[in-house]
Amino acid sequence: MGGSESTDYDVLIVGGGPAGLSAALNLGRALMRVLVIDADRPRNAATLRSHGFLTRDGIPPQELRRLAREELSAYPDVEVRRRTRVTSLRPSDGGFAAEIGRREAETTVTARAVLLATGLRETLPEVPNLRGYYGMSLFSCAACDAWELRSRRLALIGEAPDIAERARLIGRLTENLTVFTHGADVVTAEEEVELAAAGIALRREPIVELVGDRGQIESIRLADGTTVAIDGGFVRPEWHSTLSFLEGIAPATDDAGHLRIDRSGRTDVPGLYAAGDAAAPGPQQLIVAAGAGARVAAVMVHDSIGVATAH
Ligand SMILES: Cc1cc2nc3c(=O)[nH]c(=O)nc-3n(C[C@H](O)[C@H](O)[C@H](O)COP(=O)(O)OP(=O)(O)OC[C@H]3O[C@@H](n4cnc5c(N)ncnc54)[C@H](O)[C@@H]3O)c2cc1C
Repeated sequence: MGGSESTDYDVLIVGGGPAGLSAALNLGRALMRVLVIDADRPRNAATLRSHGFLTRDGIPPQELRRLAREELSAYPDVEVRRRTRVTSLRPSDGGFAAEIGRREAETTVTARAVLLATGLRETLPEVPNLRGYYGMSLFSCAACDAWELRSRRLALIGEAPDIAERARLIGRLTENLTVFTHGADVVTAEEEVELAAAGIALRREPIVELVGDRGQIESIRLADGTTVAIDGGFVRPEWHSTLSFLEGIAPATDDAGHLRIDRSGRTDVPGLYAAGDAAAPGPQQLIVAAGAGARVAAVMVHDSIGVATAH
């Protein structure tokens, strides 16, 4: 694609997870000049192994990214800058201008189109020392970590109103599931009956302590003094978008702040696209994010010359 004089890059990609890197690969192969800026804080950094990515089941999160960047190095028009971040993105001259890096060493780049692949940020329930077990024996993604936890004594910890619904999903994995609401009034009496009918225990008391050793949970101690033995389980975090760097650009979002996109990955701001966990709705998985990155890349190429997508 030929460049206009005022544009440094054809595409700026904010975020170098599977969504952003997959888009970069496909845009690079389409002869686009691409810059990927990645703060390099993978959402799944807490875990040692990633599951469910075809040909890479069990791979450490950073290794998946390293392999992707290695492949990108074959494309001279694709540049990846790591451990730095886009601090501001604003409209400029029919495209976009971005500030990158810390204030004292900030650089400005311009691009005709921008892909937001910034993922999500998570807030875990305020249970003491939950972080010490997260990603090792307590997880958030049933689709990602179900297999290793099958048939074990499992916990589901959460304070959100969908916790009973999630319990039915986790209940597929084991006959020994306990839901812990940590004092939050989020399970109705009707849902409690349904959980009991499904053989799922409910504990409404606040959690006082998670007991275990080096990331492996062993039991949960409650405010009423009782202790429940546990081998592992799931938590229900709150999810937040990470888009505070947008200035003078306000793409539509859903109630939770996730970007609304059309089937092809376009936001409602011309030239601004999104893929991966940052874009709602959809399963939050690595291979889904990578697939979304590939799809939006094809659409960006077509849009850049005004050709209707035709696959
Ligand atoms: C504990 C845990 C375990 C998981 N395990 C699995 C698993 O086994 N299998 C699976 O399929 N999925 C798993 N997931 C889900 C998976 O991590 C996500 O679905 C996936 O990472 C989404 O990819 P993404 O590219 O959209 O975002 P991310 O991988 O989160 O990448 C987004 C990137 O954007 C960067 N970024 C954000 N803002 C900026 C900015 N302003 N400037 C520059 N860079 C920025 C971030 O630092 C990050 O590097 C797990 C998630 C968690 C929390």
